[in-house]
Amino acid sequence: MAKRPTRPNRKKRRRRFREQAKCRFCRAKTGEVDYKDIPTLTKMTTQQGKIYSRKRSGNCARHQRSTMRAIKRARFLALMPYVA
Ligand SMILES: [Zn+2]
Repeated sequence: MAKRPTRPNRKKRRRRFREQAKCRFCRAKTGEVDYKDIPTLTKMTTQQGKIYSRKRSGNCARHQRSTMRAIKRARFLALMPYVA
């Protein structure tokens, strides 16, 4: 009998995003998200430039709204792309 090729063990991961107790802006005690802070805003968008959902970004409601506004502001000022 021929031996079957062994498959690499693929684990199914249920939770993709680890939920944290506090959102990153709450932890940093940031009031409003700065639209000039491009490195931080880039982390909140996909490679295509879309804004991540609250579930993905892990932000609280208040900071997600603030992030959304900051990204839209940065896009208008051509600091960030609408579509990359
Ligand atoms: Zn927050």
